[in-house]
Amino acid sequence: METVLQIIVVLVLIIVVILLVFQPRRSEAFALPHNYQELLNDYVLFYSNLKEEEKKSFEGRLEKFLAAVKITGANAEVEDLDRILIGAAAVIPVYFIPDWEYVNLREVLVYPGNFNHDYEQHGNERMVSGMVGTGGMENVMILSKWELRQGFINSNNTHNTAIHEFIHLIDKMDGSLDGVPELLLERKYVTEWKELLEATMHSIRRGESDINPYGATSPVECFAVAAEYFFEKPEAFRAAHPALHSMLQRIFIRK
Ligand SMILES: [Zn+2]
Repeated sequence: METVLQIIVVLVLIIVVILLVFQPRRSEAFALPHNYQELLNDYVLFYSNLKEEEKKSFEGRLEKFLAAVKITGANAEVEDLDRILIGAAAVIPVYFIPDWEYVNLREVLVYPGNFNHDYEQHGNERMVSGMVGTGGMENVMILSKWELRQGFINSNNTHNTAIHEFIHLIDKMDGSLDGVPELLLERKYVTEWKELLEATMHSIRRGESDINPYGATSPVECFAVAAEYFFEKPEAFRAAHPALHSMLQRIFIRK
């Protein structure tokens, strides 16, 4: 009887060891916060305008993004809301593009406020609110927590820093950050798109456009600020910039 008991104990121990060794690694598992739908409805206009089943698909994309990309605070506390807003900014531009993955993004660093071009948070020249890293910071995005939240809280303007940075990532994914998202824009439209960006930059410089003046600095920034406006205020953008609107529709909505 005793030996039977010993055998059972040994067998149980073996099973426990096997379960411990072969259990799926879940240390990095990500779970959406319990109130994620509430946060999305309260802060993300794009999401709250979706139909119920579209919301489900948005949530699936959001969860997949947040499971794949690390979000780290640099002197800033990353709260559930920040994670949800970063995920939303990632999903919004590619919501209509099935199976899109940001293969060029590994980590998002969240700074409390603005920083300079050397990723420093102190000093005089703190003017950058978001950035897609290069060199040693390749595949890293930096966002200011304050600007991240402003982009969603203040739905009365056409700015959204996080969406702006994801547009740069999309632009960059074809190998060149040049204002032309080759992966999403059919080749036959590339010349027209470049001309449209140039024309837009001219009209900004002449003071004849309501597009963020920062867009006049380069085609790269022109594409990013126009896309921010397109996603933040679609109807106003369509009315004020029909040609740009239909081209961005072609790039992001694809119908
Ligand atoms: Zn930019």
